[in-house]
Amino acid sequence: MQSKLLNKYGSLANRRDMVHSQTAAIFLVVILIMVTGNFSLFHGILNIYPLTFGNLPFLISLALFFTSLTAIFFLVISHGKWTRWILAGFLLITSQSAYYMDHLGVIIDTVMIDNVVQTNKSEFSSLITSTLILRTFFFGVIPAWLILKYCPEPRSLKVELKSRLRSLLLLLLAIVLLVIPFTPDYTSFIREHRIVRFYSNPTYSVYSAIKYINQQSNITAHQSILSKTAEDAVLLDPSTSKNELIIMVVGETARADRFSLNGYQRETNPELSKQDIVSFTNVTSCGTSTNVSVPCMFSSLGREKYDKEKALHQENALDVLQKNGIEVLWRDNNSDSKGVATRIKYEDFKTPTLNPNCKGECRDVGMLSGLDEYIEKNKGKDMMIVLHQMGNHGPEYYRRYPKAFERFKPACQTGELRDCTQQEIDNAYDNAILYTDYFLAEVINFLKKYDEQYEVAMLYVSDHGESLGEHGFYLHAAPYIIAPKEQTHVPVIAWTGKNFDYNLSDIKSYKDNAISHDDLFCTLLIAYELESNICTGKNAIFAKNKMLKSYALSEDTLDKNVD
Ligand SMILES: [Zn+2]
Repeated sequence: MQSKLLNKYGSLANRRDMVHSQTAAIFLVVILIMVTGNFSLFHGILNIYPLTFGNLPFLISLALFFTSLTAIFFLVISHGKWTRWILAGFLLITSQSAYYMDHLGVIIDTVMIDNVVQTNKSEFSSLITSTLILRTFFFGVIPAWLILKYCPEPRSLKVELKSRLRSLLLLLLAIVLLVIPFTPDYTSFIREHRIVRFYSNPTYSVYSAIKYINQQSNITAHQSILSKTAEDAVLLDPSTSKNELIIMVVGETARADRFSLNGYQRETNPELSKQDIVSFTNVTSCGTSTNVSVPCMFSSLGREKYDKEKALHQENALDVLQKNGIEVLWRDNNSDSKGVATRIKYEDFKTPTLNPNCKGECRDVGMLSGLDEYIEKNKGKDMMIVLHQMGNHGPEYYRRYPKAFERFKPACQTGELRDCTQQEIDNAYDNAILYTDYFLAEVINFLKKYDEQYEVAMLYVSDHGESLGEHGFYLHAAPYIIAPKEQTHVPVIAWTGKNFDYNLSDIKSYKDNAISHDDLFCTLLIAYELESNICTGKNAIFAKNKMLKSYALSEDTLDKNVD
């Protein structure tokens, strides 16, 4: 039937001087891919909007919307004599990815692509099943062969270009007309159900592939011109009987003054207040945005000297830990590591591939999944695990927590903060803090299992704060020089296990000292008992204890070094 259709289109086009020839072939391939390769996408959509009379118009609109997007993609990439090869290649690729999506529920994201690249021959052969072979044959090989055989030759550049441009314009117009009557539905679909879009085949896998190639080339670029940091670092106490196991949580958009641990009148830390922790009350951030604060806090440069390029091309705290034999892992439920984990083992928790807690939005607590296996695998080594949270990322605070955490009501239910009252904004923001409180307590509970075998600790540091309408400011990223304290005063919380070198009661004694993100670099080195000249005389969260323990310095010297 496929060949008949193609023949029909071919002869039709011949008779009409083949104006639409290749364009028609492209549309045929798009329809075939939408029908045979997007079961998971439509299955996901039907789960959200069941097939009822009322939902039907929006469902049709969504189906046409995804079809139009896919058609635009193919019209843009297929040209001249390459058209047939591109179409055939994609027919093969989409039949494969559709199989993995439909049968194994995987999403073709950067993690999955990396897995495929790293897969060895024996692992690969175990993935091949008869269903895969049949599907590839009927939905991949046969249509690809037909396209190679029957896809018309390109006409003159001018004719082809005209035909493509006309189709593209029509499709763009169609998308506008499809979206306009359903704008609120599309808004909620995009905001609440972003994961479903990840099943769009092949557009999402192409997006992931480009992102993956970009990541890899960044790694190569940064490796080649990397300057060294803390080359003199030595382990102070190499004979320590137990290994270190530290989880650092990099927070997102959390304000220190919204933690009841720091005196906020609302109970936003019901879980952490049950734990024996230290909350540092006087910490300032390096920047007012994730892009600045995250690379800056791990860099040895400090806020005054921080420069994006410089920080990217210099070893950061995690690099120093790694080269001193500590096993470092970065798990991300935020955007990415902002270049910090370029040379570190990195795992993406923003999609259900690794994160089991994804319902509409992937939850931070999902980052604890599979960590037991990781720890078991690295037995006998010091470990550093960074969990980069989604936290209080705005302006849609109401999306940052499951319904069960909506304790302060009514909560603002839109990203248009100006449409909400101050009380509603505060409620939504504080509910998201409640969720972080729960998450951090879960991290501590997780570590408690390892309290006997390891020197365990949890350190939580938020990247920057947030304006919630004070002085008419909302969100963050104000220039540092004029940034209000709501954006720069961040929460920092530490918890340590019984074998950790620096005990909580000592740390508590200086919890109100003024410290900043600048102190994190040395805090991490000191936590692993690494000594380097770069950290001499620096403030750090564990510094005072280190000196008490290792040098038994006089009280005078200590105060000078710490305050
Ligand atoms: Zn941020």
